[in-house]
Amino acid sequence: MLPQMSDPRPWRVAIVGSGPSAFYTAEALLKAAPGVVNVDLFDRLPVPFGLVRGGVAPDHQNIKGVVKVYNKIAAQPGFRFLGNVRIGRDVLVEELAAHYHQIVYAFGCESDQKLGVPGEDLAGVYTATDFVGWYNGHPDHRHHRFDLARARTVALVGNGNVAMDVARILLASPDQLAATDIADHAMATLSESKVREVILLGRRGPAQAAFSPKEIEEIAELPDVDVVVTAKDGHVDAMSAQWLAKEGARSQQRNVEFLTARVAHGEGSRAKKLRCRFLVGPTELLGEQVTSDQLPSGHGQLRSMRVQHMHLVADADGTPRPKATGTTEDFAVDLVFKAIGYRGIPCPGVPFDDKKGIVPNVDGRVVESVGGAVRQGHYAVGWCKRGPTGLIGTNSLDAKATVEAMKADRADARMLAPTQGDIEALLGIRSIDAVSWADWQRLDAYEIEQGEARGKLRAKLVAEDEMMQKIRELRMVRA
Ligand code: NAP
Repeated sequence: MLPQMSDPRPWRVAIVGSGPSAFYTAEALLKAAPGVVNVDLFDRLPVPFGLVRGGVAPDHQNIKGVVKVYNKIAAQPGFRFLGNVRIGRDVLVEELAAHYHQIVYAFGCESDQKLGVPGEDLAGVYTATDFVGWYNGHPDHRHHRFDLARARTVALVGNGNVAMDVARILLASPDQLAATDIADHAMATLSESKVREVILLGRRGPAQAAFSPKEIEEIAELPDVDVVVTAKDGHVDAMSAQWLAKEGARSQQRNVEFLTARVAHGEGSRAKKLRCRFLVGPTELLGEQVTSDQLPSGHGQLRSMRVQHMHLVADADGTPRPKATGTTEDFAVDLVFKAIGYRGIPCPGVPFDDKKGIVPNVDGRVVESVGGAVRQGHYAVGWCKRGPTGLIGTNSLDAKATVEAMKADRADARMLAPTQGDIEALLGIRSIDAVSWADWQRLDAYEIEQGEARGKLRAKLVAEDEMMQKIRELRMVRA
């Protein structure tokens, strides 16, 4: 049951999405015009928080603690949450435009980049997007199966913080995860995992690794894992050394210090290994036809992969880029995980830049197409505005910048001209059971209670219909 927009205010804003960038946008709007603005956050799922619930790793509860900030934003007058409403299907963008003065797209990047090499569809080749969503109990990803019980050696393509999360979850011992809010199905599979070795593949060198120093250091702190770097892989070429000294970030310098120190550490004696390889780019994933109940007939099973060796050349602005040397190498792997970046999915009725996988915009103002006219009253924030980069806090500054554009446009009367009042009427006509913030708070308390009873921080419901059923039950008993 939604609280009614009892006093429709002169400035009504719909935000599509309820992850960090949506909350920071709501915060900036409510701060800019308290008592003047109504902010409605829509999410297609019955639960809020986007990647904080479905992306941040379960052993990173300190990062998930950011929801305390979002809870305070949600408690402010003028804020509403409308979960279980999919914009572009349940409510069309034109219909939103008939109810609000401004619309902000904050739907992130829900898909992944493709490697574009032969063999990408073999059984045993997975995306980080699927794996991360799966261990976090995201409804879209709960059906995936990861064949960890027969895998010993895993290749992990990409050198960013998502790769770090995937490596850590694959290498952590199950008892380090059991008491978190990890999805039950993931805990069961990870408990049977035979993975002993993760080979991390970077197409550039140690100086260009995209992970944060504390993320790789955290893996080295896992009790039974050695981070292994050979002298060859840890070598920083002269151009990179110069580039690092001149324009490398402190985090990149720290990465190099850490990786160089690991060369001296050698192989180590722990049971599991994270092997950091650099200057290698996958060119083919190799498999064989197998007969199995698990696979469609004629489908291949991954057996090994081919990488090409790279060297670095400076591009026009001096950035070191990878270039193939012409030599290749094959090695056996049981599974491959690709963690090479996220990518946006188009939302019906919203312009989409297919090349970049984002909503085309100029400083947050949505444009009809790249280089095209501004679509008055429509804005973008977060990953669907700028692409999948930055940490959670990056979205705060980014949202403030878009809100500045929204304020300026409002001052110039460049807004939509809504003809309808509260969207609740339309949802009622369509029998759409929108989840309110109070509904979510009840489900939140329920998940925490269920988790505590089983020695976990939270026991997540992972199917949308289960979530809705529980929300309806809780409305009756805990109203
Ligand atoms: P990312 O930081 O952009 O890293 C992507 C990695 O994939 C880079 O190493 C990139 O190499 C590599 N790559 C791209 N295309 C490739 C290809 N065709 N072949 C081989 N390698 C390829 O992306 P991400 O890891 O998905 O993370 C997204 C954002 O979320 C980042 O800003 C990240 O810091 C953030 N995040 C933060 C945390 C945390 O704070 N704990 C956790 C997860 C994510 P090049 O550099 O050579 O392009």
